[in-house]
Amino acid sequence: MSSPDRKPPYHLVSRESRPELGSGTAEVAVAGVRFGGGLPVIIAGPCTVESREQTFGAAEAAQQAGADMLRGGVWKTRTSPYDFQGLGEEGLRILEEARARTGLPFVTEVLDPRHVGTAAASADMLQVGTRSMHNTPLLKEVGRAGRPVLLKRGWASTLDEWLCAAEYVASEGVLDIVLCERGIRLDPKAPHASPTLDFEAIGKLRRATFLPVIVDPSHGTEDAALVPGASARALARKADGLLIEILPRRWTADRVRCDGHQSITPEALGEIVRRAKPDPGNPPGA
Ligand code: PEP
Ligand code: MN
Repeated sequence: MSSPDRKPPYHLVSRESRPELGSGTAEVAVAGVRFGGGLPVIIAGPCTVESREQTFGAAEAAQQAGADMLRGGVWKTRTSPYDFQGLGEEGLRILEEARARTGLPFVTEVLDPRHVGTAAASADMLQVGTRSMHNTPLLKEVGRAGRPVLLKRGWASTLDEWLCAAEYVASEGVLDIVLCERGIRLDPKAPHASPTLDFEAIGKLRRATFLPVIVDPSHGTEDAALVPGASARALARKADGLLIEILPRRWTADRVRCDGHQSITPEALGEIVRRAKPDPGNPPGA
């Protein structure tokens, strides 16, 4: 974060540029879903769109659990080039059908500037993933597409670098940006180091920017058993939402090709949603 005596290297997304908001958050609306509008937004779905059956199963489970939006990757940045790379445009058609079945708008990741137009014609929100946060041609293309943007934090990026990435998007015209903390790598020397969620980032970003901030406890823990606890911590820090990977009802982790180990069941998602959006007549702890 910039020191108090240094002017931040971004200005469109800085809190100072929107004095009328005071210490509040600017709302980002995605097909009627409001980030920063008070209640946390829960985005849930498969890591990757792998088939119609799997995507529809996860989408219906997300909707029944009370999620607000659907997620699913169709172009995947896999660590190995030999891993499944996603269904591409065929995956977009499956997500469109899942949206029609459930009424849930969807977010999907773009990794190549050449895909942005195609994705923007289909998805309700475009995601920039952790590996792409420093890809300035992609950020600019996304900023020209006119769709709201979910911008993940690079896994080794400072908050200033992250906000500068948001500034790249904003400088091309799109200010509907939601930041997503997804864990950083504290020890890349370890061969299989799991990420560490930087919960402190939420409060620091609140001071630096008016943009809503959500947390991804799935990639942030890489462990389905840790997702409910990490979700609770994010919401206790007043995150504006959660991005969660789930399995279809009655599926086990080994049935999916991508990130089954960190995908939670629909039942676990239902419990997170109940805690995130308590019934007004039945507040938490009552
Ligand atoms: C994702 O959310 O699908 C994803 C690949 O996450 P990340 O970019 O945070 O690794
Ligand atoms: Mn994933």
